[in-house]
Amino acid sequence: MGTHFLPSFWDICTESKKNHLSQASLLSSPIEYLKGVGPLRADMLKKELNLYTFGDLLQHFPHRHIDKTQVTLIANITPQQDFVQVKGILQGIDLIGEKRSKRMVSQLKDETGQLELAWFQGISWVQKNLVAGQAYLVFGRVSFFNGRAQIVHPEIEPYVAATQGQKSLLEPVYPSTEKLKARGLNGKQIGKLTQVLFQQISERDLPENLPAHLLQNRMGRWEAHRQIHFPNSNEQYKKALERLVFEELFIAQVRLNLIKIDRHKNSRGHLFVKVGDYFNDFYNKYLPFQLTGAQKRVIKEIRIDTAKGYQMNRLLQGDVGSGKTMIALLAMLIAADNGFQSCLMAPTEILAQQHYASLTELLKDMPVEVALLTGSTKIAERRRVLKGLMEDTIHFVVGTHAIIEDVVQFKNLGLAVIDEQHRFGVAQRARLWKKNTIPPHVLVMTATPIPRTLAMTAFGDLDYSVMDELPPGRQPIKTVHRYETTRGTVMEFVKTEITKGRQAYYVYPLIEESEKMSFEDLMQGYEQVKSYFPEPKYKISMVHGRQKNVEKETNMQRFVTGDTQILLGTTVIEVGVNVPNASVMVIESAEKFGLSQLHQLRGRVGRGSEQSYCILLSSVKASREAKERLKIMCNTNDGFVIAEKDLEIRGPGDIDGTRQSGALNFKLANIINDREALLLAKEQATELCEKDPTLSSPENAPIRAYLQSQKSKIGWGKIA
Ligand code: ADP
Ligand code: MG
Repeated sequence: MGTHFLPSFWDICTESKKNHLSQASLLSSPIEYLKGVGPLRADMLKKELNLYTFGDLLQHFPHRHIDKTQVTLIANITPQQDFVQVKGILQGIDLIGEKRSKRMVSQLKDETGQLELAWFQGISWVQKNLVAGQAYLVFGRVSFFNGRAQIVHPEIEPYVAATQGQKSLLEPVYPSTEKLKARGLNGKQIGKLTQVLFQQISERDLPENLPAHLLQNRMGRWEAHRQIHFPNSNEQYKKALERLVFEELFIAQVRLNLIKIDRHKNSRGHLFVKVGDYFNDFYNKYLPFQLTGAQKRVIKEIRIDTAKGYQMNRLLQGDVGSGKTMIALLAMLIAADNGFQSCLMAPTEILAQQHYASLTELLKDMPVEVALLTGSTKIAERRRVLKGLMEDTIHFVVGTHAIIEDVVQFKNLGLAVIDEQHRFGVAQRARLWKKNTIPPHVLVMTATPIPRTLAMTAFGDLDYSVMDELPPGRQPIKTVHRYETTRGTVMEFVKTEITKGRQAYYVYPLIEESEKMSFEDLMQGYEQVKSYFPEPKYKISMVHGRQKNVEKETNMQRFVTGDTQILLGTTVIEVGVNVPNASVMVIESAEKFGLSQLHQLRGRVGRGSEQSYCILLSSVKASREAKERLKIMCNTNDGFVIAEKDLEIRGPGDIDGTRQSGALNFKLANIINDREALLLAKEQATELCEKDPTLSSPENAPIRAYLQSQKSKIGWGKIA
């Protein structure tokens, strides 16, 4: 980008996993140049821990420190303690058991009692290196076995009393691997390397990267790196950690802000300057309900965004049933007011048909031409639609990925709305871009709530709207957890609902459609349900992944039209399907589903005015964690609350759609525990970037220099 400071888009949004500090010359030295690291060890460090340079080693942070003054007496160990450090004399070492169950056991004895130590692996190492009768310092997670305290695979080292004048009592222990341990690089020995490293580098190698105003009450960068490895005290360690966590989050947020600013500046977009008759007539005459506060807010965000001249790239997160379709329609009307066509894409045929039906119904008295285009659109109709889109006689087209095929050409596409985005790949979306000389505005709608903190880190560079409010008058779904042993009662309950004229879903887990066992389970379930609901009085449609698409669609359609009372199937039961008359959702083996999946499934009911129910069936033997999940489901209907809990239980790496985002590769920060730091970092970063989007003020020189020093080529998965 010439003289302009901002690095190119890909430069800013990439971040080397293996080298945060590439520019500072000494820190980019290959690890083999460090004293004590020959080529062999260097190879191991690269392979095992991804440590290639001095800088990598510097950022390989200790996961704990040994504090020799903090020793627990064996008699004081309780089951409530997680990790303990104990000092004692090692007793005789016994080899017990044979072959696979072979283990090595010893006792550590202090003046108050005995603690068992056990090894299942690395037995020869233990035999060679540990000497009975000597004093050892032992650290590990205690478990209680037959009422006795035990540590399996303890960290163990000969006990040496702290010597007088020793600078710090806190000795770092680093993450290591079995292979490295075998080569003399255990968690503590890596610390020796770090020590050598600190003899070779100086403050010059780690210049400050935060602006001065953020350094008040915060440790400097160099000092923080020293203290996090070799703290003078627990206090100093905490300050160092606080500083480095903040730095990590803050830099990430600045980077996201810069990407967004860069996109806004450099992507040309259609100008939707006005709100005209299409929107106003619809809003004043045909809108069937009052918009919720959240809907009003979001449509305003979209209006502002599309009137600025850059391409909107917006993610709309709204809980199931929050009314996202109406947002799509209103945005499309604004596009029409400005002379542009719009498309609305759904991941499945059935959803596309539903959207088409509700749009034509809502717009029946408006001079708006809506068309449907899917894989099964008949040839003549298809020809008519293609022609209409080219000639701009069709304003809105609703469809499946049939829309992105190259033969589909628009006269003037201005807005593309993508519903339930997770089913559309990035490559598919990119093809939309080519449908007009200036790419259309893109609105991606998803019903998978993502916790705010996660969204902030994973999607912080996108425009982002949240609908966290349901239309008024909805009856919250009643959710209960029942054991499979009470299935009979559940069936009776479903029967009373069906007798009232309602419909019901039965969902079975089928993680892999090819799994023979679970397929048999499904068939068995089908027989079971059928025996409670015999034909011809009751009709059941079944959908699963082994069916051809046509067959699936037909079965689904029969349920949608009310021809069948029960829809039984695997999770292919479509996301987003709207059958307001369905009031019961029975989820079999609910313990096998994750929280967000359960929430999605439950969202299929509760769409009408009747009270709806969700029944989670599980085995009595379900794990404690699974039962905890089911309890959460029973306690709340709020997708955002559920997402937060999910994040707490599973950790950030696992949440839908964010796995590959790369935004979560923090070395020290943890978006759950460091929530407050994250909010603060975001606030500060946004303020800084708004004031000085080119980071050219002298006060921002440090951060600018730091960002410039980072050049690497690893992609940052973008969602849109
Ligand atoms: P989702 O966000 O899950 O896609 P939908 O757009 O399918 O939700 O809306 C769910 C239902 O709520 C639809 O029947 C829709 O007509 C209705 N709806 C949407 N917005 C409102 C509103 N503001 N007031 C009342 N009902 C609404
Ligand atoms: Mg929807």
